[in-house]
Amino acid sequence: MKTIHKKADIVIAGSGPGGATVACKLARAGKKVLLLEKGRDIKFLGNHLTGLLISDKLGLNFSEEGLNIVRAIVTGGSTIMYCGAATPPPDYIKTKYKIDLDKYVNETIDELDLNPLPDEIIGKAGLRIMEAGNELGYEFERMRKFINPDKCRSVCGGTCMMGCPRGAKWSAREYIKEMQAAGGELVVRADVQHVKIEDGVATGMLAHIPGGFLDVDADVVVVSAGGVGTPCILQKSGLHEAGRGMFVDPLVFVTGVAKDRGTCLGPPMSVGTYKMNEEGIVLSDLIDPLWMWVIMAALKNTSKVLDFLKYRRQYGIMVKIGDDRQGFVTMDGRISKPLTERDRYRLNRGASISREILIKAGCNSKSIIVGPVRGAHPGSTARVGEVVDTNLQTRVKNLFVSDASVIPEALDRPVVLTMISLAKRLSDHLIENVFGNGGISSKIEEKQ
Ligand SMILES: Cc1cc2nc3c(=O)[nH]c(=O)nc-3n(C[C@H](O)[C@H](O)[C@H](O)COP(=O)(O)OP(=O)(O)OC[C@H]3O[C@@H](n4cnc5c(N)ncnc54)[C@H](O)[C@@H]3O)c2cc1C
Repeated sequence: MKTIHKKADIVIAGSGPGGATVACKLARAGKKVLLLEKGRDIKFLGNHLTGLLISDKLGLNFSEEGLNIVRAIVTGGSTIMYCGAATPPPDYIKTKYKIDLDKYVNETIDELDLNPLPDEIIGKAGLRIMEAGNELGYEFERMRKFINPDKCRSVCGGTCMMGCPRGAKWSAREYIKEMQAAGGELVVRADVQHVKIEDGVATGMLAHIPGGFLDVDADVVVVSAGGVGTPCILQKSGLHEAGRGMFVDPLVFVTGVAKDRGTCLGPPMSVGTYKMNEEGIVLSDLIDPLWMWVIMAALKNTSKVLDFLKYRRQYGIMVKIGDDRQGFVTMDGRISKPLTERDRYRLNRGASISREILIKAGCNSKSIIVGPVRGAHPGSTARVGEVVDTNLQTRVKNLFVSDASVIPEALDRPVVLTMISLAKRLSDHLIENVFGNGGISSKIEEKQ
């Protein structure tokens, strides 16, 4: 077994939006950045095989209670399979935790040109669901998207969740490319094991790589392995407080057969409603890719499996709720995520409203099915106020966390805009205060 040694100003574990944003900003600021990613850099996107290969445990990752938890292990993290919906952070981050992200949210909306899609791209099913929802008083709107409408083909059949092959959907890979252009280095298939800590100060990371180990020395260490990966690394590094109390923003899909072009023939999550936000319920147009639809129907509604023949005429609504923080992630990646009675009540209420909307939109009431509960937003496992401070630093000096695990409470909304904004704020803190005035650079100058 060989060990490769490397040195950097900053080493980052995980290349999802949390890690890639910091990597890009710090490389642009002239720092020597090393970005370690457990997954591969799979390029062949937009097909079912890739959808399976990039999913953790081929999409069949279950908690001890049987909840399916979806995440991607690949460069760019879950932004390769996300739906591209962009929603600003909830108010509580500013009012309760005193973290003001307004500047970073506005900057990101401008930089990435995040806007609702035009109606011809949203497609017939999305517009019909919005219209039916509004007729019933649920105040649907066109959602802001990380999608460039000039490159998007509305008829590509829901390939968004298998990776956009046309580059219409923004993913964290764009920040990785910018990091590399600015001199930063990406190492793939580097499975970070633990953070090296000496006298209460982080000094680097150790990763498994094919055939051996990668041993990195760095002044600043950032863990960005996502809501499941980060608590594993932190616990193995001696931060046993990580991993407790997790949100996953549980969701169910409610689908039904209509008479015309279905939800799969338009980009997912193009319309939605936040009217029931205070109850922690969000509804948006969405259906599983075909292979996942069949698996989920087989698990929950066996008598309807043959409706896959009518897949292209299916309308779908996703019910997403803000859940109670419960359960844990262990250092070997086992997950326990019990749902509370309140969580189940909210899911059920959202599903029954979705059924009403689908019937109003023209679906056959007998065809309507509710899929199993799943979670696609693991977070809060290294949260602000308990594991990290408001600068996202742990109790170990120069060890920071930048991913959904720092989010202190369930979001009940898309995560990525919040994640990029938090990571940009952390980057400014690192550049100005940790490397800058009175920080690492001046200590190096003093020594010289
Ligand atoms: C199907 C689906 C649809 C979604 N749709 C939306 C949407 O429309 N809008 C939205 O805002 N959000 C959406 N999300 C959620 C969003 O994609 C995630 O919440 C977001 O990507 C989380 O970012 P992150 O940086 O915390 O982690 P991730 O994106 O999970 O990135 C973590 C990275 O760390 C790597 N990693 C893990 N362990 C290690 C290790 N030990 N060493 C090195 N690297 C490691 C992983 O491979 C991964 O690349 C969706 C998620 C899914 C699954």
